[in-house]
Amino acid sequence: MSNFKGKTIIITGAAMGLGYAAAEALASKGANLTLVDYNNDSLEKAKNELKEKYPESKFLTVVADVSIEENVKKYVEETVKEFGKIDGLYNNAGIEGKQAPLIDYDIDVFKKVVDINLMGVHYGMKYVIPELQKNGGGKIVNVASVGGIRGVLNQTAYVATKHAVAGMTKNAALEYGKDNILTNAIAPGAILTPMVAEAFKQVNPSDPKVAEKEYASRNPTRKLGDPKDVGNLVAYLLSDENGYVSGQVIAIDGGESNMY
Ligand code: NAD
Repeated sequence: MSNFKGKTIIITGAAMGLGYAAAEALASKGANLTLVDYNNDSLEKAKNELKEKYPESKFLTVVADVSIEENVKKYVEETVKEFGKIDGLYNNAGIEGKQAPLIDYDIDVFKKVVDINLMGVHYGMKYVIPELQKNGGGKIVNVASVGGIRGVLNQTAYVATKHAVAGMTKNAALEYGKDNILTNAIAPGAILTPMVAEAFKQVNPSDPKVAEKEYASRNPTRKLGDPKDVGNLVAYLLSDENGYVSGQVIAIDGGESNMY
């Protein structure tokens, strides 16, 4: 895959899980990375690990909550100040919320999920797209979910916001394709990250491993996904090799979203 030397990519939710996996994939190809997260300690730990493993790459950390518009402005401004330009955004930070049937769903949790998963992705595009326009184009990868393609029991807020991410992705692709900006969303199935481990704890508090096994048994591949697979897909979509894929919601789920 093409080299990312001299390219600047912003990753939100970079401290762990799918954000960290993409950071690894891009750092291994020499990218300059802005790592954004609201968890300062985990972010610093992630940066130090990446710096040691990938000394060729440059890293900037910005502590920011993507649901706060001013924080998003800040991570964009600090990136331009440090690296001079932006070539791509991996708009990944997101939360699951709580598992509950629709009529019992806590409204404060619902609003928080909307603020982070929907508004956070919107603000990211709102402030990064003008920088990509100045730079003659670029790439955006938003993170939806298989819950952005179909329903998932007891996850109304998550499913609503991930469908919204799919919708915003299609609109951004339509509106900014003329500026050489390609925008896609990925729709991961169950990839074993801290967020998914937490979901298994909610399903079976006494033995989360049982919930994990049961979930994996329903997948055509009989396993959960590896964050590295997601990192590689994201790196392709953000690379120069992607010349014409735009406005798509690409499932990475072992084929599970095709099942009844
Ligand atoms: P994770 O909880 O393991 O990591 C998420 C990271 O984002 C954490 O470092 C967290 O501190 C950060 N974060 C959360 N809210 C933030 C905010 N408001 N501002 C800044 N940082 C914030 O989660 P993950 O599994 O890596 O999930 C990453 C993305 O992938 C999410 O959007 C999630 O919905 C999506 N996703 C994950 C899976 C999966 O199987 N893991 C499946 C489908 C979609």
